[in-house]
Amino acid sequence: MKADLAMFGGKPAVRPEYRRLEWPVVTQADRDAVLRVLDHGKFTVGAKEEPEISGLESEWAAFCDTRHAVSVNSGTVALELALTALGIGPGDEVIVPALSYVATAMAPLYQLAVPVFVDIDPVSFNIDVTQIEAKITNRTRAIIPVHLGGLPADMDEILALARKYDLYVIEDAVQAQGGKYRGRTAGSIGDVGCFSLNVEKSIPTCGEGGLIVTDDERVAERCRSLRILGEDLSTEERLYVSATRGSNLKLSAVLAAFTRAQLDRFWDYQVRREQNIPVFLNRLAELPGIVLPSVPDDRTHMWHMLRFRFDPEAAGLDGITPGQFRQALRRALLAEGVPLTHYQIIPLPGQPVFQEQDAYGRGYPWSLPGVNPQRYDLADYPVTCAVIEDSLCLRRMHLNPDAGPALEEYADAFQRVWENLDVIGRFARSAPYAPPWAAVKGVGRAHAGAAA
Ligand SMILES: *Cc1c(COP(=O)(O)O)cnc(C)c1O
Repeated sequence: MKADLAMFGGKPAVRPEYRRLEWPVVTQADRDAVLRVLDHGKFTVGAKEEPEISGLESEWAAFCDTRHAVSVNSGTVALELALTALGIGPGDEVIVPALSYVATAMAPLYQLAVPVFVDIDPVSFNIDVTQIEAKITNRTRAIIPVHLGGLPADMDEILALARKYDLYVIEDAVQAQGGKYRGRTAGSIGDVGCFSLNVEKSIPTCGEGGLIVTDDERVAERCRSLRILGEDLSTEERLYVSATRGSNLKLSAVLAAFTRAQLDRFWDYQVRREQNIPVFLNRLAELPGIVLPSVPDDRTHMWHMLRFRFDPEAAGLDGITPGQFRQALRRALLAEGVPLTHYQIIPLPGQPVFQEQDAYGRGYPWSLPGVNPQRYDLADYPVTCAVIEDSLCLRRMHLNPDAGPALEEYADAFQRVWENLDVIGRFARSAPYAPPWAAVKGVGRAHAGAAA
């Protein structure tokens, strides 16, 4: 007998305590690490023989197979300093994917550089490497591929373009810690790799933090200087002399110690996640019309996020668009207690900051002399629009090492909804529809038909 859907008053399939799972998992090892710092009293990177920050940096470099790792106070800052250290400057263009966390596209602004967006691949959700070359101009200096959701981007194609046009490659590896691409480790493949230690990431701290990895000694040295007001670090004793513009962007020792304890357990956790996540995906694979994350043979998926696309035709429903299907499923699955989210309601070029083209006042950096005009028109990113319209995500906090039983109940919820697809179809046909980006002020109206 089919159970009533929770959206129509039935009992939700997922128990309340599984709607929000605990992440980070905090153990005695983390508490001991934090207390150790309070006991040794070396709190900052400047302290003599400071063990935690330097310890994390060498362990992280080893983890990523790079020669250097430099810690900073966020993943966003890691991207900003990487661009700065590579010499990206005012009016330069930096190529980024149209789907990512906004930090990827905001980072170039730090150096008054201009982001140039490329549409994504409909299967991997990473930058579409076949569309990059058309966006390269005389001003292009760098590409920032993002390993979105934990799946490494097509790095060999990106590196080939970078060689051809003399561009830097900065990996936004924030969502793919420990990931492998053709035998190489995420973050070590381009010129520089960037990571975040934010609580929502796979190797978190108890707050905010970030890391920059590279094999280039000079880039590492510049990042170390940039995080401490551009100080000249070549002197034996600290002289408080600034060689360049910088800021105070250092990671604290308490945060570093916490992350060291998490890094220590990362692969144990990963082994358990490699058990419970595929079991969950295998159950969903039996339901027609759900497109599951794909994992090419030449790379690993670190399961930072699971993105599901929904296809009404494959589910046997006609007369509704993928967006309408996703909207109805969102209502139904949230009511059942599955904590699905959009993860980006708008392609990055549609973000008001880019629509306005004014980051510093007076239209800078877009009004700088010689800068190529940018359109930032959603119609140029049809795949990103389609993916945002027809997909929903499960995020890192719901994919923790102990999530097995919760994922079982999420799968039960999907199954119940799929047993009631006729009802979902009727609901989808009758509900008023708006794409997710209609919620963004000033953009929804102008681009309501972009993906139609
Ligand atoms: C979280 C995230 C960032 C930024 O990291 P913060 O530490 O939050 O500044 C950058 N890129 C991606 C893809 C992210 O998910």
